[in-house]
Amino acid sequence: MREATTTTLSERLGAGGAAVREGTAADSVHGRVPRLVAAPPDTAAAAALLAAAHHHRLASVARGNGTAIGWGAPPLRCDLVVDTTALTGIEHAAGDLVVRAGAGTPLAELREHLARAGQRLTLDPLVPGGTVGGAVATGLSGPRRMAHGPLRDLVIGMTVVRADGVAASSGGRVVKNVAGYDLGKLHTGALGTLGLITSVTFRLHPVPPALRLVSAEAPDAAVLQEWTARVLRSAAVPAAVELRWPAGGPPRLEVLLEGSEGGIDARAAEVAALLTAPETADTPPPGWGALPGADRDTLLKITAPVANAAQAARDVRAAARAEHTEAAVGGSAGAGVLYAAVPAAADPAAVAGVVARARDALAGAGGSVTVARTAPGLAGADLDRWGPVGGLGLMRAVKDRFDPHRLLSPGRGPGGI
Ligand SMILES: Cc1cc2nc3c(=O)[nH]c(=O)nc-3n(C[C@H](O)[C@H](O)[C@H](O)COP(=O)(O)OP(=O)(O)OC[C@H]3O[C@@H](n4cnc5c(N)ncnc54)[C@H](O)[C@@H]3O)c2cc1C
Repeated sequence: MREATTTTLSERLGAGGAAVREGTAADSVHGRVPRLVAAPPDTAAAAALLAAAHHHRLASVARGNGTAIGWGAPPLRCDLVVDTTALTGIEHAAGDLVVRAGAGTPLAELREHLARAGQRLTLDPLVPGGTVGGAVATGLSGPRRMAHGPLRDLVIGMTVVRADGVAASSGGRVVKNVAGYDLGKLHTGALGTLGLITSVTFRLHPVPPALRLVSAEAPDAAVLQEWTARVLRSAAVPAAVELRWPAGGPPRLEVLLEGSEGGIDARAAEVAALLTAPETADTPPPGWGALPGADRDTLLKITAPVANAAQAARDVRAAARAEHTEAAVGGSAGAGVLYAAVPAAADPAAVAGVVARARDALAGAGGSVTVARTAPGLAGADLDRWGPVGGLGLMRAVKDRFDPHRLLSPGRGPGGI
């Protein structure tokens, strides 16, 4: 970092219009307190801010509302937190089923806005406080990913500011296009390691008029797996097929159906006939589709072929028991993407053991285990968060191209990117 007093730095960072203040303990990211916090009001101010930060070689971490700031590995350096909450605004082209929203726009506000036009961004569950940029940067994709694809498939355009302060856009209304890169796919799930997202354009869907949730408790993983296969083979066309397996109870399968009023009961009956002792509801229970466990638990992301998803859940639970702890598992059995919560109180060696055992168990069946979020006490623990990462060479090349001085959330991503 080129030396400058905090006052001089604040002035230089704020010259483009960002509000700048000193960092406090409340701004810390995995225990690293930033020297400064800056909130740009628009893309131009964000570009000027990052250009100044680049000049002084300050390492920046983007922050929306901070609800998922503990996801990913601790940043290696954190000199500047870029607070996105002033980057708001919604431009809704209802006739085109498209919306462009500022990165700091709360998802809840976006949802309310779209609902007034009978439309939605098919992205769930909604987390209180989560912002558009934060959701995209963490790659949030809830239960309906099964029918509508993961979040990155709903992103049709994006404006980002690179580490050197150059703004670029793809899709939608283009400021400056970047040939050769699909910005939406690169930045979704990148945890802010490749650029600061300032706005996102999404594809929307009409809100379906009718909904049914058909669920049943399964005696074991084999039955759960068989039910999943039957539901997916059926003509009921579910929007989501979820697995819920609390630490202390039996597994449940939850099948979400959406569509027009005519026909939805017949589709629900068709699913119910495939399960044992099914229950049908016309609204999902509160918190439906949320991550398993408590907010501070260590969270593992598990992927597995759909044909093995329930068995993968069983294997991860067995790995936890072998380490004298437990794991609650939940997620999309129909898309093969699950999350497992290991209690925050579990000691670091046990968590490392769960991860290693689960990876061994799943490797043969084409599954993977990564550590999405660590419990607060484990931030500095010696944990192999990513395991073997396919395409790491390519990811490193992209990081070198976009952020050669490693100034954006350094160390947060796979392989220390
Ligand atoms: C299936 C699923 C369920 C979830 N459920 C929960 C839940 O129950 N509770 C919960 O707390 N979270 C949950 N999350 C995560 C959370 O919902 C979202 O990621 C949240 O909306 C993040 O918003 P935020 O503004 O708080 O982001 P922040 O926490 O501020 O940031 C999150 C990450 O994104 C980066 N980032 C933020 N804004 C930008 C930007 N503009 N440009 C580049 N990078 C940026 C940050 O550096 C950080 O790495 C879930 C995620 C998934 C996948």
